[in-house]
Order: sequence, then C-alpha cells, then structure tokens
Amino acid sequence: IAADITVARLPSALGRGATVAVLDRSVAEEAEQMRRDFVANVSHELKTPLTAMIGFIETLRGPARDDARARDRFLDIMEREAARMNRLVSDLLSLSRVQAEERRRPLGQVDLPLLLRGVLATMDQGARAAGVAVETRGIAGSQRVPGDPDQLVQVFQNLIENALKYGGQGGYLGISMRRIDHEPLLRGPAWAVEIRDRGEGIEGMHLPRLTERFYRVDAHRSRAQGGTGLGLAIVKHIVNRHRGRLRIDSARGQGSAFTVILPESASRG
Ligand code: ADP
Repeated sequence: IAADITVARLPSALGRGATVAVLDRSVAEEAEQMRRDFVANVSHELKTPLTAMIGFIETLRGPARDDARARDRFLDIMEREAARMNRLVSDLLSLSRVQAEERRRPLGQVDLPLLLRGVLATMDQGARAAGVAVETRGIAGSQRVPGDPDQLVQVFQNLIENALKYGGQGGYLGISMRRIDHEPLLRGPAWAVEIRDRGEGIEGMHLPRLTERFYRVDAHRSRAQGGTGLGLAIVKHIVNRHRGRLRIDSARGQGSAFTVILPESASRG
C-alpha cells in the first residue's frame, strides 16, 4: 500500500526511470510481504495443534490422570493432530522442492494412463469405503508424455483426495483423459486429465485464490479433515514445472472439475 502511494505521487516530480525503479521496489516489497505472510501462516498452522497438544498433556498429567475414557479420547486427538503436523511438514518439503526445481531439471517421460491407473488402484478402496462410484474414461491405453512420475502421482493423488474429501457426498468421482489437438495456451497438442466430482462445488469468488498456499474455503472443515491447505498449491507448482495448465470449473452446488493440461511433447522454450 505504501508503495502504491509513492508511485501515485511520482510521475510529475520525477522522470520515467525513477517510476520504474519504484515499481521494481514495490514488486520486491510484495515478494517480501508474501514471504512474511507465509512464515506467519506456517507458524500459525504448527502452533495451533502444538498448543492444543500441550494442553492435553497437562490435562492427562492432572485432572484426567485416572480417567481411562478421557485419556483414550485425548490420545486419539493428539495422534490426529500429530499426523496432520507430519503431513504439513511433508507438504512444505515437497512444495519447496518443486519450487526449486521449477523449470530447471529436465523432465523424463511417463506413461500417463498407466500412471493414472496406478493412482486409482491405491485410492479405489477409499472411494468405495466412502460409497463413491468411480467412472473412468480414456485411461485404458498407453500414452507417453514429458513428466516427472513422482510429481504427477502427487498431482492426481491430491486432486482425487480433494474430490473425495469435499465432493464425496455427491457419490461420484470421474477421471477422464483426452487429447487436445491444439491447446491455444500451450500452442500445441496436449493431454487433458479431468478429475470431476458432484459434491458441493466452490463459489466463483474463491476460484482465483484456490491454489494459493493455505487458502481454504472453509478452514475449520479443511483442518478437521486433516487438510494442510497446501494440496492445490503443490498441484499448481508441479503443473507449472511441466509447462502445463490447471483449469478449475466449479459452481456452488454443482460439483467441481479440476483439469490438468500437459503438453504432448517437450517444448524448446
Ligand atoms: P486442503 O484440502 O488441505 O484444505 P487444498 O489446497 O487441497 O487444501 O484445497 C484448498 C481448498 O479448496 C480446500 O480447503 C477446499 O475448501 C477447496 N477444495 C479443493 N478441492 C475441492 C473440491 N473438489 N470441491 C470443493 N472444494 C474443494
């Protein structure tokens, strides 16, 4: 905000070059502010469960010492919170790894339908347990695209997990893959993998910010379901690293579709 005011006052007093310098600084300030926000978010995300756990430990030492039922309940909560913190740290590590690699290390080749079938096989049980019918289309064959297998597994795991977590009550999970002859944004042929649910959907106002780190539509619910708020940020960075696109179509009450669009061949750019 301070930078904006400076810029607004500048043009009449100083030349064009000075304005550009101030704009540069404001970009740097923005980056610095984002870093500070990120550290504040991470601290908060870790501190909240830690504070709760310290509280439970004190209660277990004192008032709940001889109450077996309370002890079991508190230990369950502590285990859940510890597991979530563990996931948070893992997600932070993957995020920083992906960000460091973005556009640097060359990609190998992956068989995309085979990879999708593998991800589905590991998640099918969870879907069935949640009473969700899984429908697949276009993932039976074999198709090689430039990609990092571990990272792409993470992308589809995160998207399918979300579809079950937030869209599971719709009873449906659709996974489809199709070729796009010419994807304008990628300026060439591409493969699109769509993960669709028929759950509650997402209101339009949230869509532009959904892939920001720690952005959640309902923070309480995300935490209660063990979410870290980093899943889609990781997806976005991995897709960027593949020079692909992430498309989100959703409307409140109508379910969501997350489409990962990957270039068919490595670009020279
Ligand atoms: P997390 O699930 O850990 O909170 P994500 O980055 O994976 O974090 O998702 C961010 C938010 O986007 C979620 O908290 C949820 O509000 C919303 N969201 C993601 N996927 C879906 C979906 N399929 N349907 C509805 N909301 C979703």
